[in-house]
Amino acid sequence: MQHFKLVIAGKAVEVARHADVLNPSTGEVVGQMPIATAADVELAIASAKASFPAWAAKTSAERAESLSAIAANIEAKSEELARLLTLEQGKPLCGLGSRFEIGGAVAWTRYTASLDLPVEVLQDTPEGRVELHRKPIGVVASITPWNWPVMIACWHIMPAIRTGNTVVIKPSPFTPLSTIRLAEIINEILPPGVVNIVTGENDLGAVLTTHPDIGKVVFTGSTPTGRKVMASAAATLKRLTLELGGNDAGIVLPDADPKAIAEGLFWGAFINNGQTCAALKRLYVHDSIYEQVCEALAAYASKVKVGDGLAEESVLGPLQNRMQFDIVSAYVRDAIEKGGRVLTGGAAGEGPGYFYPVTLIADIDHGADLVDKEQFGPALPIIRYTDLDDVIARANDNPAGLGGSVWSSNFDKAKAVATRLECGSVWINRHGAIQPNAPFGGVKQSGVGVEFGVEGLKELTTTQSVFV
Ligand code: NAD
Repeated sequence: MQHFKLVIAGKAVEVARHADVLNPSTGEVVGQMPIATAADVELAIASAKASFPAWAAKTSAERAESLSAIAANIEAKSEELARLLTLEQGKPLCGLGSRFEIGGAVAWTRYTASLDLPVEVLQDTPEGRVELHRKPIGVVASITPWNWPVMIACWHIMPAIRTGNTVVIKPSPFTPLSTIRLAEIINEILPPGVVNIVTGENDLGAVLTTHPDIGKVVFTGSTPTGRKVMASAAATLKRLTLELGGNDAGIVLPDADPKAIAEGLFWGAFINNGQTCAALKRLYVHDSIYEQVCEALAAYASKVKVGDGLAEESVLGPLQNRMQFDIVSAYVRDAIEKGGRVLTGGAAGEGPGYFYPVTLIADIDHGADLVDKEQFGPALPIIRYTDLDDVIARANDNPAGLGGSVWSSNFDKAKAVATRLECGSVWINRHGAIQPNAPFGGVKQSGVGVEFGVEGLKELTTTQSVFV
């Protein structure tokens, strides 16, 4: 069993207390997470602050080179990282699991290296020249969740350091080990103090979000915690990017081909066992093809192998933790009590591990938790509709607004529906397929700001208008 340390000012820092991190497939101990004290967090912030002037003074090309070197170093250690991720998170090595996640982390890092924010000339006339400069903010706090811990850490860290900021990251206490290893790998490339990591319980988050030396918080997690982050950052008016929960709707139009869309619908909903912010969480299907879509989805689900993530044949693993397992179990029970028809799954077997079967619930409507709230697990409600305006209104009748999708054999018709959905990203004939050049973020209560691409990079900077 491995004993992990914090990384502060480029050094491994030992602490007095540790907590066991458990494998959700077996309940066995994977390794020991260091529990940082508030004093350790102070040290990490001070280290990031001290390294900021020199890092910010580097040229854009120098920082781009560092990011490319980090991408190569993550890639070189990708199998080791993927195994550690599977052990603590539960997701399989194969399919859309750990190897896929580490590959995504490398791709995002490389792409972020290639971006730039050069000085813009807004005016150059005899009356004067006006330039728009973008400057780093300072010390950025990154707070990450347990579902895609390595990839989301890279989404936070890479744009921050690309633009000249320094970072203190705090991962989720459920999955801290792969992020510690990531921070070690990053620190093999960077000057000491540019990226620091502190791990421990949730209370560390508040130390970061209230600290006067933190200029910006990038937070990915649940909407209730996002509200707390926003409130606690108010006293020092920090910049914020909040990537929060979703309850994405997918609408299947009557002209869709049920067999052709089944695989895309399935992985849109069940990627990472549904523990994905922009997964398909409510599926609306037109009455005329409702039964065919249910049948095609159930047929696809019956072929999916759920098991221990280390087994090469598994394509889905367990839920990550007891809390999420209990939420999914309760929402499915409630759906069945409210008349939902179980097409497959419906209840967990006996342990060990937080395994929950792929669950499809038909004949269900708004008013059930599985429809109204974020299940964040492998249970998809399938809702029948007849009227297009009504289904669009119902899809939008939710405080969340992260993603959405429309499924149809007619692209123009689908696009006309897609642009009426109230969400930050919308897909046609697929769901959740994010990419590093397209801004990603939530509207309504799914978040504030965007990540990815040039728009995402700008969020890690302040502007300065220079009048010459
Ligand atoms: P969570 O809100 O429980 O925890 C997220 C992080 O916040 C953890 O590191 C946690 O330790 C920390 N935290 C807890 N309390 C805090 C506080 N008071 N102040 C500061 N930090 C605090 O979320 P989770 O359960 O880890 O993740 C699942 C949620 O994340 C889901 O709702 C999911 O939709 C959302 N999510 C959103 C995106 C996105 O891009 N929009 C991506 C992934 C996950």
